[in-house]
Amino acid sequence: MEAEYEALRETLRRFVDRELIPLEPQLDADGKLPDATFAAVRDKAQAAGIWMPDVPAELGGVGLDLSAMVIFWEEISRTIAVPARDHSLFGPTPGPILLALEGAQAERYRDPVLRGETVSCFAQTEPDAGSDPRAMRTRAVRDGDHYVVNGTKRFITHADKAGFAQVMVRVPAEDGKPRITCLLIDMDTPGVRIAARHKTMMGDAPSEIAFEDVRVPVANRVGAEGEGIKLAQGWINQGRLRHAARACGVIRRCADDLAAYSHQRRTFGAPLADRQSLQWTLADAEIACHAIRLMVRDAAARLDAGEEARIETYMIKAHGDETGFRIVDRCLQFYGGLGLTLDMPIQKFWRDQRSFMITEGPIEVMRMAIAREVLARAAA
Ligand SMILES: Cc1cc2nc3c(=O)[nH]c(=O)nc-3n(C[C@H](O)[C@H](O)[C@H](O)COP(=O)(O)OP(=O)(O)OC[C@H]3O[C@@H](n4cnc5c(N)ncnc54)[C@H](O)[C@@H]3O)c2cc1C
Repeated sequence: MEAEYEALRETLRRFVDRELIPLEPQLDADGKLPDATFAAVRDKAQAAGIWMPDVPAELGGVGLDLSAMVIFWEEISRTIAVPARDHSLFGPTPGPILLALEGAQAERYRDPVLRGETVSCFAQTEPDAGSDPRAMRTRAVRDGDHYVVNGTKRFITHADKAGFAQVMVRVPAEDGKPRITCLLIDMDTPGVRIAARHKTMMGDAPSEIAFEDVRVPVANRVGAEGEGIKLAQGWINQGRLRHAARACGVIRRCADDLAAYSHQRRTFGAPLADRQSLQWTLADAEIACHAIRLMVRDAAARLDAGEEARIETYMIKAHGDETGFRIVDRCLQFYGGLGLTLDMPIQKFWRDQRSFMITEGPIEVMRMAIAREVLARAAA
């Protein structure tokens, strides 16, 4: 198995080095390739067999397990030509909720995504409920064989181009306990509206979606009422793993580029490579990458074996995102003014890496969850 993983790493590394990094000068300020370039390199990825890597083989994908996906995420993160939050360069990205659909729901919602006919978005965050999803207010009230949905979702990636959304809602229950539930809502349903877009410093522009008396068939509910958090968990666990694997790829690229640059750039009569402060940054990068990779491998193996690995994924997200940003920030320093220009890839890595300390669970919330576990253990 180890040999297979290494072969996969080699294939991906070569693809990134030969096909993607050379395209970086074509990126616009938001980190987007020209449409024709994107389409051409997408074709190359498909021809190279790097297509829908996490989708099971029977559905047309490669069927990589998480232990292999972390290699994929690490390698593709070595280039800003692959947007940090959009891996569609390697085919449709249905995500765990859609991949788990069955029967009529799978035919209606999963399969068109896999065929590339539409895209979906995942809508959980609200203006008053981000880190704490249980505080969500979007309500779905049962009315015969429909739910009537009212509320607002904020910062939803790809909502503007999605054919349907996987929306987390609160279904009122007689016992007063929140029943967070997942509904598949077509974006052209009357009452669904993109209310705003928020352009970020990373160049993307997630949307606010307003739901006003939106009638959604009960048949569009995924799983049972109250199973929403459990469903979202699969997505979020994978997300945490992806974050840490990504940090590793970003650290490697930034350290490699800096090592090369440090031999050329001279200050005070000597190359930057001679400065101990720079050498220590490169050494710290090497240590960080090795440590994160081991943590990621362990968490991926646990998840592949069917363990929940909650604490492990909290730890890798907090550690990976934070360490990743710290190292990128240190590397950027050694480019001086050049590091602040949009001509250099490092500024984009810096902006993206900073954002990951907040999105998909801020690092403080990861720590809160870990600490809760430690305190509960002590109390027991
Ligand atoms: C570019 C982008 C894309 C996104 N895409 C999506 C998407 O597709 N779908 C989706 O549902 N959401 C998406 N989000 C939302 C994102 O996941 C949330 O922004 C994130 O979960 C944080 O929620 P919040 O912004 O409401 O921050 P808040 O919950 O208001 O938290 C603000 C800050 O308070 C601190 N904090 C919060 N709780 C605690 C605590 N318990 N202890 C200590 N400190 C704490 C943290 O520092 C945190 O950063 C996206 C956001 C961005 C910026």
